[in-house]
Amino acid sequence: MNVQERFRDPKLARLLLERIASGVERLGRQINLMEVCGTHTMSISRGGIRQILPPEVRLTSGPGCPVCVTAQRDIDLIIEVVSYPEVILTSFGDMIHVPGTRTNLQEAKAAGYAVHVVYSPLDALKLAKENPDKLVVFYSVGFETTAPMAAATLEMAAAQGVENFKIYSVHKMVPPALEVLVQAENVRIDGFILPGHVSSVLGGEAYRPVAEKYGVPAVITGFEPLDILMGVELLIEQLVSGRSQVENAYSRAVNWEGNTVAKELLAEYFQTVDSEWRGIGIIPNSGLELAPQYASFNAKNTAVVAKAAEKLSNVRSEIKGCRCGDVLTGVILPPECPLFGRACIPRKPVGPCMVSSEGSCAAYYKYERHHFAV
Ligand code: SF4
Repeated sequence: MNVQERFRDPKLARLLLERIASGVERLGRQINLMEVCGTHTMSISRGGIRQILPPEVRLTSGPGCPVCVTAQRDIDLIIEVVSYPEVILTSFGDMIHVPGTRTNLQEAKAAGYAVHVVYSPLDALKLAKENPDKLVVFYSVGFETTAPMAAATLEMAAAQGVENFKIYSVHKMVPPALEVLVQAENVRIDGFILPGHVSSVLGGEAYRPVAEKYGVPAVITGFEPLDILMGVELLIEQLVSGRSQVENAYSRAVNWEGNTVAKELLAEYFQTVDSEWRGIGIIPNSGLELAPQYASFNAKNTAVVAKAAEKLSNVRSEIKGCRCGDVLTGVILPPECPLFGRACIPRKPVGPCMVSSEGSCAAYYKYERHHFAV
């Protein structure tokens, strides 16, 4: 049995399911567990995990897809910025197809504007060096996982004096969002399946307030089917025994302290700021903005961004009918959106949750739509 097969062993899966069923029976009620990471959502849908769990266990998606939680205003603004001839915009692929209020980056590219898909901020830095007469803006989207890479690239740009390299940061931090969600009145969360990737940077320590202050159990979980079943089993075990703590079921990648080098990069190159999340609103100290000493690399300090913001100041940024915000906060499941599978499909997405490779609506559409009447 190879390493991957060990995490898909049907015998172990059956054992975990029996333990989950026994815990659910003892609890005797519905249990709402939120998977915080978009990759978990994809794994759960792809692995058919929802269908093999007892019906009392409801898995909902959380705000764990970085493209999806980016505020509509930030999406519209960056699309507007592309229209300035001095700008070359670089972005990860997912963002290219995300609908803006009027258009998207893919259409802007087709119309002849300079939009480049990159696989790393280093590609953007390279473009900046090759095009010294242009402003090369890297649209830096993601959580604590991708921000260190942006920080490392900024370190290189500063050391090499590549002043035309700019970062437009919409990075967000996961723990503050969880604290907001556990206090929300319209959602009951009995436990969190915590993100493996983000936790590999932050470590388990970062989630202690969620478990200790708000009494919500949390388990850091890997991405294979058995990882997820184990995460669910440990959460139910905590609920049965009346505990609420952070447990690490992904010790092959995550430790309690996190990645010290990555955290030092974040501390040097970013500062925490209030940030707007789709579906949640502004969460204090939940965003990562470039630190003041690197202000000259901050795209938000450029004249083009100021002009774009001015142009959009009277435009209402919203996608009518899309309930992505409710999906991201666990208020509804994707098939409960009236547009799911009808007006909104991956080929013609209405909202970001149907676009991203980590989006809940995309996951449900790809793997689970036949379980729902759409
Ligand atoms: S199905 Fe489409 S319109 Fe509905 S919430 Fe998802 S992305 Fe938005």
